[in-house]
Amino acid sequence: MNVLLNLNEGKFPIKINESYDLQLTSEIKILDYIEVDISIEKPSHGIVYAKGTLNFSYISECSSCSKNLTNEVKIETDVEIQDISVSLEKRYKNKDVHFQNLNEFEIKEFIREEIYLNIPNITFCEDKDCNHENINKKADLTKPFKKIRDLIK
Ligand SMILES: [Zn+2]
Repeated sequence: MNVLLNLNEGKFPIKINESYDLQLTSEIKILDYIEVDISIEKPSHGIVYAKGTLNFSYISECSSCSKNLTNEVKIETDVEIQDISVSLEKRYKNKDVHFQNLNEFEIKEFIREEIYLNIPNITFCEDKDCNHENINKKADLTKPFKKIRDLIK
């Protein structure tokens, strides 16, 4: 399904149960498909939520020894969707909000953002010879993009 949804009208909930073939960056190589099971709900006028799961696997490098790793990920998402026209001052009041044009909502953009924000940028292998204890596993480093979203709101 690669259609633009109009979230300002129509029937809710909108159930999306699809496999998406999309890539993010050269560093994050997604294997096969992203299994998307999401329900877009509109509990009252002007409020839209997306809830559900994203399941996929991706290849990353061990941050210590550079070995290729396969990571299986299940992202539980529960995010409010607001129109891109919402002013910056109002955005500060909200947590976990995805901004997009509600008249032309593109589910792939939503999926991309959720994956970016929810996967770690450092991964480690489980090889006993790999010396990854030396690397500082600060919580700050594991989801850097999540932090960026916190800052821009
Ligand atoms: Zn390693």
